[in-house]
Amino acid sequence: MNVRHSGIGMTSARTRNRMIERLRTQGITDEVVLAAMNSVPRHMFVDEALATRVYEDVSLPIGHGQTISQPYIVARMIEVLRNGRSLNRVLEIGTGRGYQAAVLGQVAREVFSVERIKPLHDIAVLCLRELGARNVSLRYADGGMGLPEIAPFDAIIMAAAATHVPRELLAQLAVGGRMVLPLGSQEQMLYLIEREEQGFRQTALEPVKFVPLLAGKS
Ligand code: SAH
Repeated sequence: MNVRHSGIGMTSARTRNRMIERLRTQGITDEVVLAAMNSVPRHMFVDEALATRVYEDVSLPIGHGQTISQPYIVARMIEVLRNGRSLNRVLEIGTGRGYQAAVLGQVAREVFSVERIKPLHDIAVLCLRELGARNVSLRYADGGMGLPEIAPFDAIIMAAAATHVPRELLAQLAVGGRMVLPLGSQEQMLYLIEREEQGFRQTALEPVKFVPLLAGKS
């Protein structure tokens, strides 16, 4: 598969700049996140026919009924995860084609990302290899279980909406760690969960729209 989409290079650098300016007007202030969003060529993660729309603030289809998350929500979730600090080990549930994992790879020392749909996992492997994102490891698995063998994580990010917070993931969050996840089915809300010395603190952030977290592999 040709994932580079040669020929739109210059256009994409310019439209990516416009995307960053739009993210600023939408309230994203973390310069580390903005720089990471600027450095990852988002068009590599969609089919060529959609590449001209990929810097707009929309989610777009990536096949198998799934979508690439809109730029604002990717930036917002990573900004909340970082909270101005550098990130060490991060877990993402729902790789898709790997766009958000690539952005996370720019702001964290190590990223682990799990996807339950094999063909999407396979495309993500190709995309991230092409990008040379060597600190991002991809797993084909049901992410609802997390990755107990790699835990604890100082940040966990979910790209699919659960109806409740998966217990296994809470257990894999380090003390002082932060998790960002959408919860709900028809009506969804983005939440921040912080692990403190004694328990967890949960904060509602804003309404969102994500694909559902599904159990098992496909
Ligand atoms: N992070 C992606 C978003 C992909 S959409 C991006 O940057 O664009 C969310 C993804 O979550 C879908 O690919 C879906 O298959 C996946 N998903 C849903 N339930 C899952 C589960 N239990 N484990 C792993 N991945 C899951």
